[in-house]
Amino acid sequence: MAGSKYAYVRNFELPDPLLPGTFMVFRLDGHSFHRFSDEHNFAKPNDIRALQLMDRAAEDLMDQYPDITLAFGESDEFSFLIRKSASLYNRRHSKIVSTLTSFFTSSYVFRWSTYFPDTPLKYPPSFDGRIVLYPSEREVRDYFSWRQTDTHINNLYNTVFWALVQQGEESTTQAHATLKGTVSKEKNEILFSRFNVNYNTLDARFRKGSTIIREEIEEQLAQESPTDAPAKHLRSRTNPHTRTVVLHCDIIKDEFWDARPEILS
Ligand code: ATP
Ligand code: ATP
Ligand code: MG
Ligand code: MG
Ligand code: MG
Ligand code: MG
Repeated sequence: MAGSKYAYVRNFELPDPLLPGTFMVFRLDGHSFHRFSDEHNFAKPNDIRALQLMDRAAEDLMDQYPDITLAFGESDEFSFLIRKSASLYNRRHSKIVSTLTSFFTSSYVFRWSTYFPDTPLKYPPSFDGRIVLYPSEREVRDYFSWRQTDTHINNLYNTVFWALVQQGEESTTQAHATLKGTVSKEKNEILFSRFNVNYNTLDARFRKGSTIIREEIEEQLAQESPTDAPAKHLRSRTNPHTRTVVLHCDIIKDEFWDARPEILS
C-alpha cells in the first residue's frame, strides 16, 4: 500500500540500536520522590511499605522480561542487568527504556493499594529511566558495588539524621549542621552514644538494599496451580520453572557472584 504524501516524515525517525554483545544496565529512579514521599507520609528514614512496593514492581518487570538476570534497588531507584545476548526489541534504545520504565511505573501504581491500603494516591508518580552499556563483567560488578555502597552511605546518613530530628529534637537544619563533615565512624559513634543504636543490627533491607535473582523451582512445584499455595505467588508467569527471590545480602564480595554464574552469562 502506497504511503500518503505525508509519510516521508517517518524518515526523520532515526534508528537507535544499542551495541550488540554488551551488558545493558537499565536504571530507573522516582521523579521528585522527596516530595512524593512527604505527600504520602512515608515513614523516615525508611518506609518499609514503599520499599516492598518497589521490590514488587521490580519482580513484575523481571517476570515480564526474561532477559533481566539481576535487579538491585534502594530508596526510589532500581537497577536491572539485561543479558548481553538479549535481542529485546532489536535492542532499540528508546523502545527498551520507554517500555520498561512505563511497565515499572504502571506496576507501582497497580499495586499501590496493596502496600498502602489506607493512603490514597494524591497524584500519579513517575520515574525516569536510562540505559548504560558495559563492555565486561568487571564494570558490571563495579556498577552494582557502586549502587550498594551508595545504599550504605545514604542509609547511614539518613539513619543518624532522623535520629537527631525524631529523638534528639534537632531541627532538620540543625541535624544537617551536626552531620556536616562527619565521617562514617563519627556517625556510628553518634548513633551509639546518643541513641544507643548499633548500626550493624539494623534491618539488612535498609543497610544492603534489595537484590532480586531468579531461582529454579522443582518440577513438581512448577506443575501445581498458582492458587495451590499463596507463598508461591511470585512464580514466574512467563517461565513456570523459575521464580524471583528478594535478598538483602552483600553483592560486593565474590561470594554472591561465584554462587550464581548465570547472572553474568
Ligand atoms: P529526582 O527527581 O532528582 O530523583 P528525588 O526527590 O526523587 O529527585 P532522590 O535523590 O531520588 O530525589 O531521593 C529520593 C528521596 O525519596 C529520598 O531522599 C527520600 O526522601 C525519599 N524516599 C524514597 N524512598 C523512600 C522510602 N522507602 N522511605 C522514605 N523515604 C523515601
Ligand atoms: P506495538 O507494541 O509495536 O506498538 P501494537 O499492538 O500496540 O504494537 P500499534 O500499531 O500501536 O500496535 O496499534 C495499536 C492497536 O491497538 C491497533 O491496531 C488496534 O488494534 C488497537 N487499539 C488501540 N486503540 C484502540 C481503540 N481505541 N479501539 C480499538 N482498538 C484499539
Ligand atoms: Mg536523582
Ligand atoms: Mg528520585
Ligand atoms: Mg533516588
Ligand atoms: Mg502500540
